[in-house]
Amino acid sequence: MAEPTTGDTVLARPGPLRSLASKFTLFTTVLAFGVVVSILALDFRQDGFDAGKGMLLVVMVVLAAAISHFTLRRMARPLSQLQAGITSARNGRLEPIQVSQTGDEVEFLGESFNGMIEALAASQRSLREEQGLFEKRIKDRTDQLEEAIRTAQAASQAKSEFLAGISHELRTPMNGIIGMLDIALDRQLSPDLAEYLQTAQSCAYSLLSLLNDILDLSKIEAGKMTLEKIPFDLRVLLADCIKAQQPKAGQNSVSLRAVVSPDLPSEIAGDPLRIRQIIANLVGNAVKFTEHGSVEVRVGGRFVEPRQFLLQITVQDSGTGIPADKLLYIFDKFTQADGTISRNFGGTGLGLAITRSLVELHGGEVQVESELGRGTTFTVTLKCEADAAAGAPQEKSLPATVSSTPGASGSPARILVVEDNHVNQKVVTAVLRKRGFSIELANDGQEALNKLEASAAFDLVLMDVQMPVLDGLEATRLIRKEARWDALPIIAMTAHAMNGDKERCLEAGMNGYISKPVHPSLLLSTVDEFLLQKTT
Ligand code: ADP
Repeated sequence: MAEPTTGDTVLARPGPLRSLASKFTLFTTVLAFGVVVSILALDFRQDGFDAGKGMLLVVMVVLAAAISHFTLRRMARPLSQLQAGITSARNGRLEPIQVSQTGDEVEFLGESFNGMIEALAASQRSLREEQGLFEKRIKDRTDQLEEAIRTAQAASQAKSEFLAGISHELRTPMNGIIGMLDIALDRQLSPDLAEYLQTAQSCAYSLLSLLNDILDLSKIEAGKMTLEKIPFDLRVLLADCIKAQQPKAGQNSVSLRAVVSPDLPSEIAGDPLRIRQIIANLVGNAVKFTEHGSVEVRVGGRFVEPRQFLLQITVQDSGTGIPADKLLYIFDKFTQADGTISRNFGGTGLGLAITRSLVELHGGEVQVESELGRGTTFTVTLKCEADAAAGAPQEKSLPATVSSTPGASGSPARILVVEDNHVNQKVVTAVLRKRGFSIELANDGQEALNKLEASAAFDLVLMDVQMPVLDGLEATRLIRKEARWDALPIIAMTAHAMNGDKERCLEAGMNGYISKPVHPSLLLSTVDEFLLQKTT
C-alpha cells in the first residue's frame, strides 16, 4: 500500500505505515523458510542430505515470496486508491475514486465509497444554495433597513429644519411683543393694567425661552450646533448669571452665591454663549426648585495639558431634591421628575436635555446627585483652552449696568441704530433711550453712511445685516475704508443666529455681534462693553 503523501491531512497513527504486501511477503517467506529448513533437517537426520534439492527448495522459497508480494500489491491497489480518496475527502475535495472491477468485496467497498462521496457532494451543494439564499435574504433585509434608516434620518432632519425655521420666524415677532410691552410698562399705568401687561410680558418671555430651547434642540439634533472658541472671562459671565437669578432667589429668601477657585485662569477660550446657557440652566433650576435655604455655584478646575483646562462647575442647592428612580430620566427631552412640576413650577423639561448636549459638545460630562427633601448637586466638567502661564487673574471692574455709559464727550453716548424693521427700531430705541442713550435711526446702510457723513459725533453703530438698498455688511465695508471712522465700534444685529454669521460680520469689519431677538439686558451689556473699551 502506498505511503500517505505529505501536505494532505491523514489520520494520525503511531509508527511507520507498513503495507499489506510486505507483511504478507514476510509471513510467507518465514513460513516457506520454516518448511524448507524442516525438510532439510529431516533429510539430514536420515543422512540423505541432497545439496541440489536444498538449492531448489531455497529458490522456490524466494520465488514464492516474490509471487505473493506482487500478487498482494496488485490486490491492495484499490485499497490505496480508497485511502487516497478518503484523504482528499477529509481535505474537502469530494471526488469519486476509480474502482477496479475485481468483482469482490474490494470493488463493493470502492462503489460504496463513491456513493457516499456523491451523497456528501449533493448535500454540500444544497447547503451552499441555502446559504446563498440566506445571505441574499440578509442582504435584502440590510438594504431595506438602511433605506428605512435613511428615510427616518431625512425625516428627522426635515423636522429639525422645519422646527428651526419656524421657531426662528416666531422669534422675530416675539421680540416685537416683548419690546413693545417693555415700552408700554415704562408709562404711567393703572395698577390693573400694569399687572396685565406684566403677566403678558412674563408669558412672552416664557414663550421666547421655549422657542429658543426648541431652536437649540433642533440645531443639536440636525448636527448644526458648533461651538465658538473665543477668549472670555468666566468670572464676569458667572457674575451675570448670578445677577440674573438674584431677584427670583430673593423672592424665596434663598441665599444665592458663587465661589470661584483662585486656580481659575483669568481668561479661557470657549463658547461663552453656550457656557452661559449651561450655567443659567442649572442655576435657574436650582433657584426654581429651592423654596428656602441656599444655592451655591462653585467654579474651578485644573490643567490637564499645558493649554487644556478642565473646567468644573458645581451647582448645589438645598431644595426639593429628585426621587432616585427619576434621576436617570431628567436629562431626557420633555421629561420632568413628576407630573405636578409643570403646574407648580412651569418649565418644559428641555433645559437639562440641552445642557447635557452642550456639555457633551464641549467633550465634558454632567453628573447629578440628589436626596429627596435635602437638595441636589449638579457637577459639570468642560474642556476649555487656557494658558497655564497666564498667571493670576487681574482684578477687573465689571461694566456699569445701572446708569448709561457716557460717550467720548462725557455726555450720554450717541448711538446710530441702522435697522429697516419698524418694530425692531422701536424696541431697540426704547431699550437704549430708557438707559439715557441718545439715538439716531437709519433705515438702511446708505442712510447710515449719509448720517455718519453729516455728523461725526456718533459713539457706536448698531447695524442690522439684511436691509434694502445697502446691506449691513456692505455698509460696514464702506465705513471701514475711511480712516476717520477706524475707532467707531459697529455691532451687528442679525436674526440669523446661524453658524458663520458672526465670522462674516467680523470679516466685514464689525467689532461685535448680537443675535436677534435682541434681549434688552444683552443689548445694554454689549453696548456698555464697547463704549467702555472705547473710552479706556
Ligand atoms: P424644566 O426645568 O423646564 O422642567 P429641565 O430639563 O431643566 O426642565 O429639568 C427637568 C426636571 O429635572 C425638572 O422638571 C425637575 O423635575 C428636575 N430638576 C432639575 N433640576 C432640579 C433641581 N435643582 N432640583 C430638583 N429637581 C430638579
